Amino acid sequence: MNKVIIFSAPSGSGKTTVVKHLLAVRGEKLGFSISATTRKPREGEVHGREYYFLEEADFREKIREGAFLEHEEVYQGILYGTLHSEVSRLWSEGKAVLFDVDVVGGVNLKQHFGDQALSVFLRPPSVDVLMERLRKRSTEVEHQMRERLEKATFELQFESRYDVTVVNDDLQETFRRCEALVDGFLSKP
Ligand code: ADP
Ligand code: 5GP
Repeated sequence: MNKVIIFSAPSGSGKTTVVKHLLAVRGEKLGFSISATTRKPREGEVHGREYYFLEEADFREKIREGAFLEHEEVYQGILYGTLHSEVSRLWSEGKAVLFDVDVVGGVNLKQHFGDQALSVFLRPPSVDVLMERLRKRSTEVEHQMRERLEKATFELQFESRYDVTVVNDDLQETFRRCEALVDGFLSKP
């Protein structure tokens, strides 16, 4: 059966860190679904690797074409979307698809894929820790940080809609737990 694994979490919980780790240690079985976004690349991000960075007009054209499985204005004025073509590309390579999407997108993808999907909610140990991690990462200016924190508080309410929760406290422990979840899910018929 073709499978997908969805990682969602409030911004700053450690999703990107965990997803990158899983791709490094399970890359033969898992492929990353590269989303499209209208956000500008951060330093070190490459078009076609982390995201497809699109102008808003091009993104909207893709919506009209029906290219997205789901899409959302995750932050004010910034669009993100999962492309159908990513899922078919990775399945054709014989890989399970790994998604890093926001919490609402994750619920939508789970609804779409049903039993083909494992949805994992990654949670920070507390909102204070989340704030600390976001500040340390310092990729956002102050007003964007506030928006991300407000959204994080909203997103924490969606935990029960996920198949499983992992509290990201000690990172090595989180890695181990996520590897075990992936292995367990992929080994099921
Ligand atoms: P997200 O993709 O969910 O927004 P990131 O993976 O970018 O989150 O993580 C946010 C910040 O927190 C990064 O600087 C990352 O290195 C750090 N981080 C992630 N997990 C942990 C952890 N378990 N302990 C301490 N710092 C962490
Ligand atoms: P960032 O700007 O930090 O890379 O991502 C912001 C948020 O958008 C994260 O929560 C990330 O998971 C989410 N995101 C990335 N791609 C998609 C997507 O295709 N769909 C949805 N719904 N969210 C996405």
